[in-house]
Amino acid sequence: MASIKGSADVVVIGGGVIGLTIARALALRGVRDVCLIERGNLGTEASWAAAGMLLPQVEADAQDEFFNLACQSRDLYPDFAAALREETGIDVELDTTGTLYLALTEHDYDEIEKRYEWQTRAGLSVERLSGTEARELEPCISESTLGALRFPKDIQVENRRLLSALANSVKKLGVDIATQTTVGSVMIEGNRVRGVQTSRGPISCLMVVIAAGTWSSFIKTPPQSPIPGIEPVRGQMVCLEAKPQLTRHVIYSPRGYIVPRQDGRLLAGSTSENAGFAKCVTAGGIATILRNALEISPAISDLPVVDTWAGLRPRAAGGLPVLGPCGEIDGLFCATGHYRNGILLAPITGELISKAIVSSQR
Ligand SMILES: Cc1cc2nc3c(=O)[nH]c(=O)nc-3n(C[C@H](O)[C@H](O)[C@H](O)COP(=O)(O)OP(=O)(O)OC[C@H]3O[C@@H](n4cnc5c(N)ncnc54)[C@H](O)[C@@H]3O)c2cc1C
Repeated sequence: MASIKGSADVVVIGGGVIGLTIARALALRGVRDVCLIERGNLGTEASWAAAGMLLPQVEADAQDEFFNLACQSRDLYPDFAAALREETGIDVELDTTGTLYLALTEHDYDEIEKRYEWQTRAGLSVERLSGTEARELEPCISESTLGALRFPKDIQVENRRLLSALANSVKKLGVDIATQTTVGSVMIEGNRVRGVQTSRGPISCLMVVIAAGTWSSFIKTPPQSPIPGIEPVRGQMVCLEAKPQLTRHVIYSPRGYIVPRQDGRLLAGSTSENAGFAKCVTAGGIATILRNALEISPAISDLPVVDTWAGLRPRAAGGLPVLGPCGEIDGLFCATGHYRNGILLAPITGELISKAIVSSQR
């Protein structure tokens, strides 16, 4: 293995969607010497396991700060996808068909009514459909559908293609990438970052971004800048094959979802489990996912199961992402805890963190 470069302007720790997007945004803002350090290979953890749904409106109960941030990030996606295509030739398959949120029980129906009312009052794009109208739109959905909301702006991206495009983009932009390299600690002198200690030696730098997903709190930092506790929340997925594709919309219920991909894969998800760092697929997990997917669409019953996988969502206290300067040490930034929304929040995270770093360098 080639020896590691001994210095950089900014070190980004973690090569998931968050670290990659930040490294790209820094390079685009003119930061010359960005080094991205990844413990394994780029984009093989939670960001790879995700379903790629960009759905700020579907599950939102109120127009709070998080909701506004999530909508802002979703609305950056068309330009983000177009720029990545221009830079790399990779189409990230941003699919703007929209999302259907089904009410399959009386309780679901009350929930979607509330959502429709507040979002309509807030001037957001949402359409109310009867069960019959929803089935006319997507004939595969259950005959028990009592009604549905259609969210035309809540869309999806092929997250694995997104990761390839980001990896390609950062390489082209001259970001120095060290894979198979683990950061153990952030080195501090006085009140300022001086570098990171890695499994392949030290790298000196004045700025560090911790974007290590669910493993972020394992990186040692000084007591005046503790990284907020991040816990893993396991999500399992089942991949079916639907050729021709069963649905055009992402279809969501309060218990599960199905996501059609252009190549005929139909993703069904997911679980939310506190199972520590055990990233395995379980019999119970698959059973739950398939039960919820069959409730949405009994038509999936004959489809072949072609793959299953699991990933660990990084959850911080309160379930909200941790973005910005980390504690009282100059030069230390956090971008972690994106929990269920890291794909959605990647573009805005890249913008916010790169802006904060560039303005702190002035
Ligand atoms: C089943 C499932 C479905 C999901 N669906 C969606 C969805 O539809 N929409 C959505 O927006 N989000 C979704 N998510 C959530 C989303 O995947 C995460 O929020 C997002 O991937 C987090 O990105 P990340 O870059 O922080 O973490 P990761 O992708 O986990 O990347 C962190 C990286 O840091 C590296 N690393 C860790 N420690 C170190 C170290 N010490 N040194 C160097 N490198 C290190 C890891 O190896 C890893 O590659 C889903 C998640 C799961 C599991």
